[in-house]
Amino acid sequence: MRIVIAKMSGFCMGVRRAVEMVLDAPAKQTEPICTYGPLIHNPQVLELLASKGIRALETIPECAAGTVLIRAHGVPPETKKRLKRAGFHVIDATCPRVIRVQSIIRKHARLGSAVIIVGEKDHPEVIGLLGYAGSRGHVVASIEELDALPAFDRAILVAQTTQNTAFYEKVRDWAGRRHPHYTVFETICDSTEKRQQEVQQLAAAVDAVIVVGGRESGNTRRLYEIARQSGKPAYLLESAADLEGIDLGPILAARSIGISAGASTPNWVIRKVIVGLEAMVFRHRSPLHKAVHAIMHTALLTNLVVAVAAGGLCYAAAQLQAVGPRLPFVLMSFLYVQSMHILNHLTGSRADRYNDPDRARFYERRRLPLTAAALVCGAAGLLIAFSQGLLPFMVLLVMSLMGLSYNLYLIPKSLAGFMFRRIRDIPGSKTVLIALAWAVATAALPPLSQPSADYGWTHAVVFLWTAGLVFVRTAFFDILDMQGDRLVGKETIAILLGEKKSLQLLKGLLVALIAGLPLAAALGIVPGLGVLLAACPACMLAIVLAYERGAILPGLRLEVWVESHLLLGGILALAWAWLR
Ligand code: SF4
Repeated sequence: MRIVIAKMSGFCMGVRRAVEMVLDAPAKQTEPICTYGPLIHNPQVLELLASKGIRALETIPECAAGTVLIRAHGVPPETKKRLKRAGFHVIDATCPRVIRVQSIIRKHARLGSAVIIVGEKDHPEVIGLLGYAGSRGHVVASIEELDALPAFDRAILVAQTTQNTAFYEKVRDWAGRRHPHYTVFETICDSTEKRQQEVQQLAAAVDAVIVVGGRESGNTRRLYEIARQSGKPAYLLESAADLEGIDLGPILAARSIGISAGASTPNWVIRKVIVGLEAMVFRHRSPLHKAVHAIMHTALLTNLVVAVAAGGLCYAAAQLQAVGPRLPFVLMSFLYVQSMHILNHLTGSRADRYNDPDRARFYERRRLPLTAAALVCGAAGLLIAFSQGLLPFMVLLVMSLMGLSYNLYLIPKSLAGFMFRRIRDIPGSKTVLIALAWAVATAALPPLSQPSADYGWTHAVVFLWTAGLVFVRTAFFDILDMQGDRLVGKETIAILLGEKKSLQLLKGLLVALIAGLPLAAALGIVPGLGVLLAACPACMLAIVLAYERGAILPGLRLEVWVESHLLLGGILALAWAWLR
């Protein structure tokens, strides 16, 4: 079964901006912080905001303190004034596209025009827009309601930004026929319009459609309606849990399934649905398919795949540096990465609750055996390092201690004036440190174990190459996890730079990595294997490009693909050694 995800799925610009503004507020604004009404229709996000002390204000008190954030839908001007009068510091996160409609309404209402708003009377955005029209505003939801309005000398028509485009076309025709002097403004947000067009095209191209989003969300419901009108089986799911309650027949029979999501649906909810769908399909396939899926899933959750990838990368690095015997180094890097990744998930898995709930559950339920496994792996790695000499042992020990202290408070909270109390508090530290730690484990330890090693360009080039590959791998996962990381306050490189710039940076780095080793091989710095190993960053570049084009979806397969490009290095090095 092929899963096709609509390009325009998940948070739109306005919702993303409002979510980011509210998450930034505790660091910049006077507390307590609240939002005027629930920020978005997603219970998990609201729960997380509540855990950060950010609650939703339903009524305006007489007297208040702190900061209130107006959500993307906007509010009537009178409400904003009342919030200020109550004593709140007001942050206006109204979407710029909604502000445009508010300005149109205000201008024409002042000029004496009647204002006809096409939308849902009870929708917060429409309530806000109506406030700008004053006594001249009328809300309609059907052609019958338009017919029932009196004829105005001057009138404008605007649509709620998430209105159905096909219906607004009918409204435009109605105005042209009945009141050609009315001015019809194009106010449907192009994000909504494109989303609706896309779901229509998607429905035509696949066998079934799943729309992910809150049932309370107007734009999600409209996407679902459009999908249903296509005649194909269509489902509206709030979360992956809803997969359990639907008629699976059409989904299991489908060769392709399209997934779209409303503008207030977080990425991790979409990802959970994709992962749940994949798992469900595997459960209904042959026992062999089921077994393969279960093995891969467990191997990913226990970090076995990433540890094997580290072993492969180490083998390639050792070959490039002509260091042997290679098995102890491969085992050392395998055990180090296995141990550190398990411990990292055990001590810092809050973001996993959103980005990868399966993993979070797995670690919560098996804390004891996983801790024991991590300690055994760590100790075994150190033992092997010791067998290779005191220097590799000391280096691995220091790295293990640094890895363990990553999530610990190194500066006590009682000491004031420190911005960074843990290593993880340093923005972008995770990505850089993982890249450096892997590079030491896979590329530096093998030559350090040689008593007569003569350090030179070869070691520097191989170190940088492995660090570069791991940096790209880790930063790419950071991009996939951006929304969950942001919610728990993680400052990854992807969050610092934004998705677009991060992807550009990764593509630039990959191009440099593709060219790097062949160039070094041409200069005689590394053996001819360097030319072959250009395939590793080239594969990763293909994965990044495929992800950008929506051809590969976040989930089990993508994770396996990303880790495999590192393992590929080991396989190529092995083939090279064998052929020679
Ligand atoms: S759907 Fe459009 S208008 Fe509405 S919040 Fe999103 S970007 Fe803004």
